[in-house]
Amino acid sequence: MGDEKYTGILIFAEQKNGIIHKVSYELLNKGRELANQLMAPVYCIVVGPKSMDLQELIYRGADEVYYVGNDFLNLPEELIYTENIINLIKRIKPEICLFGATSFGRSLAPRIAGNLKTGLTADCTELKIDEDGKLIQIRPAFSDNILAHIKTKTYPQMATIRYKEFSEAERDINRSGKIIKVDPILVEKTGVKILRELECMENDISEAEVVVAGGRGIKTPEDFKILYELAELLGGVVGASRAVVEENYISSQHQVGYSGNRVKPKLYIACGISGAPQHLAGMREAERIVAINSDPSAPIFNIADIGIVGDLYEVIPTLIEKLKKK
Ligand code: FAD
Repeated sequence: MGDEKYTGILIFAEQKNGIIHKVSYELLNKGRELANQLMAPVYCIVVGPKSMDLQELIYRGADEVYYVGNDFLNLPEELIYTENIINLIKRIKPEICLFGATSFGRSLAPRIAGNLKTGLTADCTELKIDEDGKLIQIRPAFSDNILAHIKTKTYPQMATIRYKEFSEAERDINRSGKIIKVDPILVEKTGVKILRELECMENDISEAEVVVAGGRGIKTPEDFKILYELAELLGGVVGASRAVVEENYISSQHQVGYSGNRVKPKLYIACGISGAPQHLAGMREAERIVAINSDPSAPIFNIADIGIVGDLYEVIPTLIEKLKKK
């Protein structure tokens, strides 16, 4: 059995501008399943603006929702969120804490685990309870060649879970639960002052139906403008490989792949991207993949539905011209 001081499953319900991220409903689905096996409650923590409708979290499986509301907390910010969440975890003492492996969740969860001196398994794709009632965290490892089964010995057992791995919890409007308001720990106490808001992508890349992504084949940051033009014509957003994010050509919110965002659009256009396994890990589930690459032996062509061998500086402007004429 686990440590008896800790009980229940805690889900961090991420929000932005008062809207709960869909990954939270997926975590509720899995969290409820684990809680039923352990005969334990499901808690949610929401840190967000002063006024939010949180009933939906109860309809989707939460027994208690702890809500830290203040307009200052409208947008995700790691340092202030960390303080508030640690405070609540110490109060609730959950056995298991789950976070979405979104770009914010990936940045937040390690700070919390580090502070609590507990383990964290990142990017899980499955969670199970073993015969001893302990959590098994499952995630791909060694470039997706094996599925590692991980048990952490410390409590709470913490994991980030990939977005779109589980289906969303079903809605039951007859479910009841408690919403517990908690006083926020704000700037004065944390010593954190937000000087400027970080660039926020207007549209979440994980939700986009069309992604036009650029890699090292793009020679300068300015050249990304042709990708933006193409994305706009197709009603999509711009993605990127880690190579160009590391070069500071574009912000990390655009990164697709193993250590970036996971996308499942209807159309993914890879421009000047070789198709490294770590990139494919984030986009191979796209419904249709178009690859533009000057090297006919680039691995991206192995998974592309349509492959265009050519210079992206010629191919993309031609596509833009054709789309404009439509
Ligand atoms: P390259 O591999 O250099 O490919 C550039 C391509 O552009 C080439 O195929 C070339 O033929 C083509 N090209 C060049 N000029 C033109 C032109 N004018 N027209 C058309 N094509 C052209 N990578 C990610 O993307 N996402 C991740 O999340 C990620 N996570 C990682 C995590 C770990 C732990 C590690 C070790 C690596 C990770 N990587 C990730 C890095 C990954 O291994 C690759 O290095 C990276 O994806 C390569 O990016 P790229 O395809 O843009 O660049």
